[in-house]
Amino acid sequence: MKEAYLYEKMDNESVRCFLCSHKCLVKEGAKGICGVRENRAGTLVSLVYGKVIAKHVDPIEKKPLFHFLPGSRSYSVATVGCNFKCRFCQNADISQMPSDQNLIWGEDTTPAMIVNEAVKSGSSTIAYTYTEPTIYYELALDTARLASSKGLKNIFVSNGYMTEECLKDIHPDLHGANIDLKSFTDKFYKKQCGAKLEPVLRNIETIRRMGVWLEVTTLLIPGLNDSLDELKNLAKFLAGVDSDIPWHISRFHPTYRLTDVHPTPPESIRRARDTGYEAGLKYVYTGNLPGDEGEKTVCHACGALLLDRFGFNIRENRIKNGHCPQCHGEIPGFWKQ
Ligand code: SF4
Repeated sequence: MKEAYLYEKMDNESVRCFLCSHKCLVKEGAKGICGVRENRAGTLVSLVYGKVIAKHVDPIEKKPLFHFLPGSRSYSVATVGCNFKCRFCQNADISQMPSDQNLIWGEDTTPAMIVNEAVKSGSSTIAYTYTEPTIYYELALDTARLASSKGLKNIFVSNGYMTEECLKDIHPDLHGANIDLKSFTDKFYKKQCGAKLEPVLRNIETIRRMGVWLEVTTLLIPGLNDSLDELKNLAKFLAGVDSDIPWHISRFHPTYRLTDVHPTPPESIRRARDTGYEAGLKYVYTGNLPGDEGEKTVCHACGALLLDRFGFNIRENRIKNGHCPQCHGEIPGFWKQ
């Protein structure tokens, strides 16, 4: 059991957690919305510190990060729990375990064990992923600090709902992030995820301003977030933050509580990709469509092929020291250790 970071004690043994934008007021004996932070006699504790439910060595392309050490390995970890309740969650068996099954489970693992295994596996990065890293922040932060001291980089794959205090705290040891921008309407965030849109938009701006390498993912769900107007507004927002931000548009498959919606037609993903380019974004990718043209990285300035991918595999990397081999223009990203 570990005392939580980022909370304050209130009257009557209540506490206010300010790790994520829900800012739960947690009464004595109760848990926050995420189900993994509990108030024990006026002290907020993390129930998932050192309880690792998943650990894998993944290609970094799987996060997805396409402009961050392409072809490298990323040691990926998670605990159970999430501060969102997405009806379409692809990892609901672990993310919603505390709320759906009232269960917290994981293998006892210290930050040192995670870092040692990452080094042994030849990974360049540790990815905090699969569920929401914000809710296992104490483990992520302690691991990230140790990892940085060993020359590893740290990556958050996140719903972007953390508070600014959380970001400021981890920022020196956070090198890359893929943030889900699940929709551009508050209605979708409330109804489908149990959250709000505004904190996510604010954090996308903040992460970019902090200089952490940022890519954004949108899972395109037929009839729920795929209208042309919404996609235009979303892409315009991203391009306004920085047109260098790579935008990944992924194909939805029915799962968890959203089994009555059919998979996204590939042509909808490609249309959304066009919308991203029309808004001024320089790098827009299709996801969950292995073999699609939209998996490749092409120089924004001259159209030369830079990274040829199939699924998560790199077939050819033609980027030279972060530059296009044809026009010699600089390609935004994190290319070298
Ligand atoms: S992390 Fe978020 S959901 Fe969990 S207790 Fe803190 S404010 Fe609530």
